[in-house]
Amino acid sequence: MFSLTKAQKLLQRGEISSRELVLTCLKRISVLEETIHAFLYLDAEGALRQADLADAKLAEWRQAGLPADQSIGLLGIPIAVKDVLTVQGMPCTCGSKILEGYIPPFTATVVEKLQAAGAIVLGKTNTDEFAMGSSTENSAYGVTRNPWDTTRVPGGSSGGSAAAVAAGFALAALGTDTGGSVRQPASFCGVTGLKPTYGRASRYGLVAYGSSLDVVGVFARSAADAAVVFSAYNGRDPRDATTQDLPDAKIVLEAEASPCLEGIRIGVPKEYFIAGIQPEVEEKVRAAIQTMADLGAEIREVSLPHTEYALPVYYLIAPAEASANLARFDGVRYGPRVSGESMWDVFYKTRGAKFGDEVRRRIMLGTYALSAGYYDAFYGQAQKVRTLIKRDFEQVFRQVDAVACPVAPTTAFPIGAHGGDPLAMYLEDIFTLPANLAGVPGLAFPVGFDAAGLPVGMQLMGRHFDEATLFRLAYAYQQVTNWHVQYPPLLQS
Ligand code: GLN
Repeated sequence: MFSLTKAQKLLQRGEISSRELVLTCLKRISVLEETIHAFLYLDAEGALRQADLADAKLAEWRQAGLPADQSIGLLGIPIAVKDVLTVQGMPCTCGSKILEGYIPPFTATVVEKLQAAGAIVLGKTNTDEFAMGSSTENSAYGVTRNPWDTTRVPGGSSGGSAAAVAAGFALAALGTDTGGSVRQPASFCGVTGLKPTYGRASRYGLVAYGSSLDVVGVFARSAADAAVVFSAYNGRDPRDATTQDLPDAKIVLEAEASPCLEGIRIGVPKEYFIAGIQPEVEEKVRAAIQTMADLGAEIREVSLPHTEYALPVYYLIAPAEASANLARFDGVRYGPRVSGESMWDVFYKTRGAKFGDEVRRRIMLGTYALSAGYYDAFYGQAQKVRTLIKRDFEQVFRQVDAVACPVAPTTAFPIGAHGGDPLAMYLEDIFTLPANLAGVPGLAFPVGFDAAGLPVGMQLMGRHFDEATLFRLAYAYQQVTNWHVQYPPLLQS
């Protein structure tokens, strides 16, 4: 199994064809997908057709003599897309029964950009219903299993995308991150996952969950691979007014003979190393920070004092926005309809029958937090505390260039472990929510394994629009370590 950047080189030199690459992924899918269940939709035939077109174009380029320094982009590279992003002609369910059978007539801008760069979309990946969850257990279409241990969750909500990359079903995958849904599953599955700055990538074609928090991220085997995909899909989009009018980020990672992090200051926030976190998680993250120090980075202790409020603030703001965003699913405009006596009856019956428990819980929470008489006490108050959390980051980024901490308090937990306990599930997000509330970028990557052989992830957070520093740090770390090139035992058999 090789990386996306390696595949690019082999394709360019004609040492492998896109068809071979796609077939390798499809073969692995045919053997392991029954166990893993990463996909909700797979378009094997379409992918092979596109691979042939890519191969024809590659042959043409080689004949015409593509300049050696010119990249082929993502031409012929198979990727997967979380099922909350639209791809024209492919079903989009958001892991919900309320969108069963819905086929969107348009493609999300981020996917369109990857397709324009030549990427081949293999299919749509499993997700917690409307991206609400941290384990993929809230999908209406069955749980995805962690390729490292199939009795455990892959994390969520983008668990299908994380598992697909970890299992070698695709060379990269798109996910979305509202409160940790790219970083946490990346950590659980031992892959690299980026949550970009809010406003860095278009949300057009992303089915909205929490509109002030949602951002499209990417999973790949390494920082270098993730940087290639991120560089291809980010940027201003006139169809999403929250995207910033900045030049597209093009991350170029130069391999240095001996990576050097001199001049970079890394902050270690004391609020992220608290009682209750799995000791091996703390140990491996601290060891990774030491490795970065050995490469020349300066390490300082910093404080993000309002961290403890991130969880309650998020679980007011995200459900409030969700309750408004999900109002459109009423049995009239999209998906299936449960018939009733009147229009209202149709709405009630359809929504009652087709939304799952967690989505209904959040709609109720959000509606309550926004209702007259409670708005100021809940939603208004949460917005004020959100500002304090944002200020914490502003103050810290005056002292350091990046912040290093764990992604999640534990490694992947067993399927069913938090079954009846939504609060225990929400606690999984304590280290990832602040970045969404503040809008700053976060990068997760593997830094070791616990005693059970499960991957441990570390998170770097950075200044708004400074994904480049996070990539530089993770890339340097990955040049001197090999956690990111370990594969689940399942793949070796
Ligand atoms: N686990 C968080 C939630 O349930 C985050 C989900 C996400 O980032 N989409 O809301």
